[in-house]
Amino acid sequence: MIEKYLPYVGEKAIAELVALARKLQGLRILHVNSTYHGGGVAGMLRSLVPLMNDLGLEAHWALLFGEPTFFSCTKKLHNALQGEEVFPEGDELSIYFQINEFFARYAPIDHHMVVIHDPQPLPVISFRPKRELWIWRCHIDISSPNERAWELLVPYILRYDAAVVSAKGFLRDGLPQHVSIIPPAIDPFSQINREMSPEEVEEKLAQYGIPLDKPLIVQVSRFDKWKDPLGVLEVFERVRRETDCRLVMLGNMAGDDPEGPEIFSQVRGTAKNLPDVHLVTETDELLVNALQRAAAVVVQLSIREGFGLTVSEALWKGTPVVATAVGGIPLQIRDGESGFLVEPRDYATAAERVLELLRDQGLRRKLGEWGREWVRKNFLITRLLRDWLSTLGELLG
Ligand code: UDP
Repeated sequence: MIEKYLPYVGEKAIAELVALARKLQGLRILHVNSTYHGGGVAGMLRSLVPLMNDLGLEAHWALLFGEPTFFSCTKKLHNALQGEEVFPEGDELSIYFQINEFFARYAPIDHHMVVIHDPQPLPVISFRPKRELWIWRCHIDISSPNERAWELLVPYILRYDAAVVSAKGFLRDGLPQHVSIIPPAIDPFSQINREMSPEEVEEKLAQYGIPLDKPLIVQVSRFDKWKDPLGVLEVFERVRRETDCRLVMLGNMAGDDPEGPEIFSQVRGTAKNLPDVHLVTETDELLVNALQRAAAVVVQLSIREGFGLTVSEALWKGTPVVATAVGGIPLQIRDGESGFLVEPRDYATAAERVLELLRDQGLRRKLGEWGREWVRKNFLITRLLRDWLSTLGELLG
């Protein structure tokens, strides 16, 4: 399995992975998160867990099942960690802790290490005798959280033996002594990223009634206010005044994100008077793939972002990206080299950059080629696996 990555990353990288995994043979490691689909975390676990097993670890993945009140609480905590002035109600918090306690008591945790992803299962650690090494893998930008929410969570975070964050800018006080920085990554063999022929791309888009008669601008993101979908419409309106084009916004509803339907209906209300806008909420990874390939420009205009995997996904397909310089996006885009960085909510500049790309096919090709190479070197799943194996090795001493 690991050898299939050889053509992309070369022999040295594969040999390094095997060497790093040698001292971890038989290590039982459990990943815990709260959704199987939607969002970047589940996508990464679907690749990472089988690869860890392939290299001789015994990696498992468990889902903490929530219900609406639980997810309403964890979404508020998520938003608060990203700096919003919001805090869960008392009964939401008690359900949050109850569900964590239930999982802690009855989930089959019989491992050497437990990796807890994000705030949803964070308190599990406090509801059982601690015999394992525990790692909190935080995918959120926690550089400037709402203090009240941070204070609520810090006592749990500090129980962990280690934390992993996605970028240097997310390091802060209140984390365990051992912190690793592991940027996320994409799997070139997943449905989202595998090769597709132009015919297959066209067929997939036709299935959703998206013609290829005009240049496509695409944003692939959950309908979430932090992804600024209304801002995307505004940028499209500005671009469309200058040149004919089409906008596709694809956003499925993640199981742990209760705000999606409400944000989607706002977007639909605003978009209904705009021609050539396609809004899609199906879960269809091949459609993500096809859109990122067919787009003249991919945009990612997030106001806050953990990492923004959609940027690497588009670059991997040679498509240039105009994105905001937030979270992990500046790691993926060097301004002017693989796309353009703009400030959040600066719609005028974003529109100018999109127009510049729409008008210059040579520039699009150049930025796309550079982007693919940058992702090949830095953001493929084999690099993520290497970082994890190193971190686990360090923790075991
Ligand atoms: N995604 C998807 N379908 C959609 C919207 C998003 O499969 O309709 C995928 C997207 O391609 C990416 C992940 O979900 O792999 C989103 O990760 P990202 O880091 O961009 O954002 P998050 O949702 O984790 O904040």
